[in-house]
Amino acid sequence: MKRRTRQRECILEILKGVRTHPTADWIYEEARKSFPNISMGTVYRNLKVLQQEGVITELDLSGTMSRFEFKQDRHYHFRCENCGRVIDFNEPVDKGLDRRVERRTGLKINCHLLEFRGLCKKCQSVN
Ligand SMILES: [Zn+2]
Ligand SMILES: [Zn+2]
Repeated sequence: MKRRTRQRECILEILKGVRTHPTADWIYEEARKSFPNISMGTVYRNLKVLQQEGVITELDLSGTMSRFEFKQDRHYHFRCENCGRVIDFNEPVDKGLDRRVERRTGLKINCHLLEFRGLCKKCQSVN
């Protein structure tokens, strides 16, 4: 079994506790509450390791700031174009799409990522 540092364990716990797909900056601020001397570099490094271990997922679909989440069943995301909030989406993942694309292209598809864009409820009420 791989030994995890306490800092890494802390970062993992932070991600387990939220469904908000936080940025590395936010995770850093949270981690500092337990480890005041932790550096941004340490947070990045641990996020990378956790990703390689397959326990967290990095969402970088839009090419903007990466967001992270504790790994769970595949699901779609909605990103608000106004405030940047990323919300989990309860639409069932369409596995048939992978097979259709496979048949058409001859490519071996493992999964697909889909992100819906628009305005979240909060931003709709402001505008
Ligand atoms: Zn919004
Ligand atoms: Zn998610």
